[in-house]
Amino acid sequence: MNYRKLGRTGMTVSEIALGCEHLQGKSYELIKSVIDAALDGGINFLDVFMSEPEVRSNIGKALLGRREKVLLQGHIGSCWVDGQYKVSRDIGECVTYFEDLLERLQTDYIDVGMLHFVDKETDWDTLEHSEMMRFALSLKEKGVIRSIGMSSHNPVTAKKAVESGLIDVLMFSLNPAYDLIPKDRDMTAVFTEVLTGTKQDFTGFTLEPARAELYRACEEHGTAITVMKSLAMGTLLSKERSPLGIALTEAQCISYALDRPAVAAVMVGMQRLSDVEKALEYETLSAEERDHGKVLASLEMFRTGTGTEELCMYCNHCLPCPAKIDIAAVSKYLDLVELDGRPTDSVKQHYLALGTTAGSCLECGACEKRCPFGVKVTERMHRAVRTFGK
Ligand code: SF4
Ligand code: SF4
Repeated sequence: MNYRKLGRTGMTVSEIALGCEHLQGKSYELIKSVIDAALDGGINFLDVFMSEPEVRSNIGKALLGRREKVLLQGHIGSCWVDGQYKVSRDIGECVTYFEDLLERLQTDYIDVGMLHFVDKETDWDTLEHSEMMRFALSLKEKGVIRSIGMSSHNPVTAKKAVESGLIDVLMFSLNPAYDLIPKDRDMTAVFTEVLTGTKQDFTGFTLEPARAELYRACEEHGTAITVMKSLAMGTLLSKERSPLGIALTEAQCISYALDRPAVAAVMVGMQRLSDVEKALEYETLSAEERDHGKVLASLEMFRTGTGTEELCMYCNHCLPCPAKIDIAAVSKYLDLVELDGRPTDSVKQHYLALGTTAGSCLECGACEKRCPFGVKVTERMHRAVRTFGK
């Protein structure tokens, strides 16, 4: 298992993490077997957003005696009212159900205390100065939560929250389809249209700028991204159901997510032992089996070639490089800087920490012949040297 820094929190998490959502309604025995297998496989990070009492209690019971071996992402604002899940901003409900989470998980701390489901900009504007935020800050001060997180599906809202400096971890919906669907299209409508047989045309589109700006903001602020919806509820695995019109494998979706800036872990939903085995298998696959570049390159928008020469997908399909440059990493840092034209300290430090930088480029052009997206790599290497100084 590979482990990654959880941004500025100082914590280290397994890049494959356990999303517990689908454990709701399952027996204690099954929940324990899933958690046992996940922990045995090296997973040390769990998301528990559900407010349903029984699943919380069963997860707590399954973790008994090994709480310190895992990092828990628990949510503030995910409540259980009148026998139903409810997203709440009522401070009384938020306090009650956060305390319920601690009690049922049989712990006195949560590693990431997530402000739950903040999608609308107006929701964040209110929340930033609310009693709920003061509650989260006081929990952090007392050490009851070790960091503050927020879950969101909206890049504009999420960026605003990240830039406030209050959010250490962002749980965000991330996959290639979401990244490529333009902001002015309603995402749910796009997926529904696909299911009803309407062909989507992404020709000429590029990485949705609002999402690129969010990833840059996260990198700059040291806010780690924990990924949800990496498969878009499984639709990306089917040519017929995916708006992209191609079928990706689970491994390709996971590697796409892990290759985005600031991403620390992908929360994979697991509800049976075979799901755990499948998720852990990712760690044993070859680079070729994980490679999302080749299949994404078959998209119409890349085949037409216009306007996508600058769209590096960070797949490293262009390797090997005789100068041993990590081309995807150089490209990623260059994109982060070029988004707003200034190298921030954190991006510059990350770039300079690379073993070999763009200055070592021999201009052999081998990478350009291999890049399935037609990216002009040597030109980008020159720009990286101009930007970072080496
Ligand atoms: S240059 Fe091409 S092959 Fe290399 S990382 Fe970027 S998109 Fe992938
Ligand atoms: S052109 Fe530069 S970056 Fe590309 S393979 Fe050759 S040395 Fe590596």
